[in-house]
Amino acid sequence: MLNNIRKKIYFPITLSVELVKGCVNKCFFCNSDRNIFLMPASIINSVIKGFSEIKVDNVTPFGMGESLIHPLFYDFFEELIEVNKDKCAFNDLVLNTSGISFNSRRMIDIIEKHPHNGFHRIHFSLDADSQVTWEKIGKSKNLTSIKEKISSFTTWKVNNRHIEPLITVSMVDHNQLTTDEKENFIETWSTFFNSLHINFENCSTWPPHHKNAIYIRSDTRFEKTEKREKCTDNNFIIKADGKVFACVRNDIPDKEFIIGDLNKQSLLSILSSSKSEDFINKKYVPDFCRKCSNEC
Ligand code: SF4
Ligand code: SF4
Repeated sequence: MLNNIRKKIYFPITLSVELVKGCVNKCFFCNSDRNIFLMPASIINSVIKGFSEIKVDNVTPFGMGESLIHPLFYDFFEELIEVNKDKCAFNDLVLNTSGISFNSRRMIDIIEKHPHNGFHRIHFSLDADSQVTWEKIGKSKNLTSIKEKISSFTTWKVNNRHIEPLITVSMVDHNQLTTDEKENFIETWSTFFNSLHINFENCSTWPPHHKNAIYIRSDTRFEKTEKREKCTDNNFIIKADGKVFACVRNDIPDKEFIIGDLNKQSLLSILSSSKSEDFINKKYVPDFCRKCSNEC
């Protein structure tokens, strides 16, 4: 049914899908809400249906929360991959996760059923090498068990000659780290990648497209960067309540950035609207953007 594709319009955007707003963890550097709101099944169905009519550059289940705690996450993820046969709905699918609710067995099943369908990368935001720091940050569960899940999934991937999804392990370089933690993090994951003969890169910006990576991010919350007149990317988001915004920042004014609502419109009609097109083509730059120093 999902492969019954009649019409495709290409939109050069990254589309985030906020399956969950809020998180059970309490990472001190994250603004996500402690009250959890799950995207309703009706909106999830509209998103999947939308991908049978459109094509975008990148998709990621991402927002102000941990997507994998949604009870429908793996069903949604599998349908998304299924609808992308021959990359007809998106070029790359990137999964961002803390790893806490990562189910490697379920993920392996999905990949075995739908290989080569654009599942490009899993980005594990670990943010610590030691259990001490992990708990100090505000994460729940056991870091060792998460490392084991990443390890078993990556080992399966190598043994079965799957290049994708690529793996990123990342940490934020912040002042809660124990001495040498950053070096230990790099050492831990370098040793692991090397043991499997995996090519990877150490980086401090988003990893290059074709590389596995150890990514150390700086804590930019208090940094002042140069203001920009325009975004370099089109980074849109479908919020958990179905509203669609032309920016992933969580503090943007609705009036200027909202481009539609999946409760009332299809994804195709929202992305084809004149407001959406003006954002994509940079004909419309809200005043808010002129004060923004965010990376898009
Ligand atoms: S696990 Fe991710 S979404 Fe949850 S509080 Fe930490 S950084 Fe935020
Ligand atoms: S508010 Fe900032 S991040 Fe959002 S679209 Fe404008 S410049 Fe980009």
